[in-house]
Amino acid sequence: MDNYTSRLADGVWRIEVGPFTNAYLIAADGHSDRDGLTLVDTGVRRSGPRLVRSVRLLGLDPRRITDVALTHWHTDHMGSAARFTMSSATPEVLVGRRDLPAVNGTQPRPYDAAAAADVTWLGRRLAAVITPGPAVASPQPLDDGDVLPRAPRAVVVDSPGHTLGHISLHLPDDGVLLAGDVVSSVGTFTRGFGFTRCALTHEARTLERLSRLEFDVLAPGHGPPVVKGAQSRLARLAQRAAAARPPSAA
Ligand SMILES: [Zn+2]
Repeated sequence: MDNYTSRLADGVWRIEVGPFTNAYLIAADGHSDRDGLTLVDTGVRRSGPRLVRSVRLLGLDPRRITDVALTHWHTDHMGSAARFTMSSATPEVLVGRRDLPAVNGTQPRPYDAAAAADVTWLGRRLAAVITPGPAVASPQPLDDGDVLPRAPRAVVVDSPGHTLGHISLHLPDDGVLLAGDVVSSVGTFTRGFGFTRCALTHEARTLERLSRLEFDVLAPGHGPPVVKGAQSRLARLAQRAAAARPPSAA
């Protein structure tokens, strides 16, 4: 294990792929690469070598990465996905159904497709410059309630807000919630970075729904895992979001 890697539960690791940016790794059999590994998010375009090195230092074979699950299309999460599909591992890429067109390249400007009122002001300004990472050929869609094919203890939870097709992964038996960018723990624990949110009307509901799940470890896309009172802290965040945006606006 290197300095960039930490263990969240048996067979579940966090890999820091860049400053404050995480990927996660799930072993299908709970400890080894025998039945395959699922990589959750891939960092930016240049994160591939560090990811591979970290997987090796865990004593695992990166060629056993059979699946890459993406929480959403942003380039700091799908950046190295295409590169992985071209490696000898040839993993399947999985993504929330509504983020599929951004990941396979058929919708290179996803912000334009979101309703204008549902995107932050800054999000609209940034629409011209924020584009997905290198497109992935034939990613497979994930829907709410699906389990990951080679990591069936991870359940897909639709969590629109940061992007329309954003998903989180709940591992109930491990007490882990991989929340993606629904929340961030860089510095303070807060909602995901505001300026890139593109489905605002969904956000409060998503926070509320995730806060009702059972977990001890809340692992975001950016920043360290939240382990102390994670569920109640998320519940408070959900309450604040609901108060800021009454349900009638949804
Ligand atoms: Zn991110």
